[in-house]
Amino acid sequence: MPGPPFFPALPLWWRLELLYSKKDDHPLRHRIGVATIDADRDFSTPSDPGNGGPETRILRGAPLAGSLRAEIESSIATLIAAGGRPPRLVTVLVGSHPSAEAYRASIDRTMRRVGIEHVPLDLPVTASEADLVRVLHELGADPGVTGILVLMPLPPQLPLWLVFEHLSPLKDVDGITPTNAGRLSLGLPSLRPSTPQGGIELLDHYGIDLSWTRAVVIGRSNVVGRPFATLLTQRDATVTVCHRKTVDLAGEVRRADLVGVAAGCAGLVTAEMIKAGATVLDFGVNVVGDKIVGDADFEGLLGVAGAITPVPGGTGPVTALVLARNTVAAGFAALGGSLDHVELPLAAVPC
Ligand code: NAD
Repeated sequence: MPGPPFFPALPLWWRLELLYSKKDDHPLRHRIGVATIDADRDFSTPSDPGNGGPETRILRGAPLAGSLRAEIESSIATLIAAGGRPPRLVTVLVGSHPSAEAYRASIDRTMRRVGIEHVPLDLPVTASEADLVRVLHELGADPGVTGILVLMPLPPQLPLWLVFEHLSPLKDVDGITPTNAGRLSLGLPSLRPSTPQGGIELLDHYGIDLSWTRAVVIGRSNVVGRPFATLLTQRDATVTVCHRKTVDLAGEVRRADLVGVAAGCAGLVTAEMIKAGATVLDFGVNVVGDKIVGDADFEGLLGVAGAITPVPGGTGPVTALVLARNTVAAGFAALGGSLDHVELPLAAVPC
């Protein structure tokens, strides 16, 4: 399905041979919320702890982040040249929550840096279902709003399905609506959940081939685990999805060449569970004491895993940029009036 003629830059988004940028801030020097980050650690080279195991490649997000920023900036220029509006992202927060506020602050930094307007919109913690639905409809109808992200968690009186049902699919920059989730699983152009899409791009960036691999995804949420499993399958990995009620998590993980973990459980994936040389993509973000750590035992996996993303500094910096890119993509969708315009569809999958 060819893209419309006014999207000359879009095929770029499908190409993953991206430019490196040397201007990145070191992601480990960022401060997120109250937690400080191990700023002096050098993750730039493979780590060999001298135990005879494999050297572990550290898959940092920063090199990919630099090229994503360049891609986003040129796509914004293309969007505006084609008659689109300057992209504007609204983040909706109901009540207050430290992790949601920290995520919003990092979104704000990222958007500012790539030239996307970010508008925070706060609803009181007492907001009713009708309040949330009204806001989603108003934002959906506002031509000045390109993308909408509802920050989690919602207070208990607001069920998540309200967001699924009432968020405009054309502005659904984290790909959570039934339309985008369904289109993703059918291999149609869609706004893809930013965290798992960023994970795939990180693997591509480091040249990690997914075909013929046995992958295990720990976590089956609609925003991370489940779409990550879909994307891996589309890239020819053979995927097992694990969750809280998986009988033998360690046994499943031990068979995997690639482990993606998004459980929100610090130290869940240990060296004993990992096949030597396997790749570990850690999406977890956990505050432990004054530090942010992932779901994998990073230190313990050095010299066992073949490659691993650090937390912080691995998948995180890529997520916010994919969200920014999705906001620009939503601008193209608005211009073309359809999700068909956000990206190129997957090629037909041979048997
Ligand atoms: P969620 O709570 O919606 O889902 C967690 C999933 O993990 C569930 O399916 C659950 O069954 C599974 N799980 C939890 N504990 C488990 C255990 N002990 N064994 C096996 N399975 C277990 O969470 P989510 O929104 O998917 O987020 C997961 C993690 O990813 C969190 O730490 C979150 O902060 C982080 N996150 C990171 C990014 C990023 O950019 N890196 C983005 C979004 C979320």
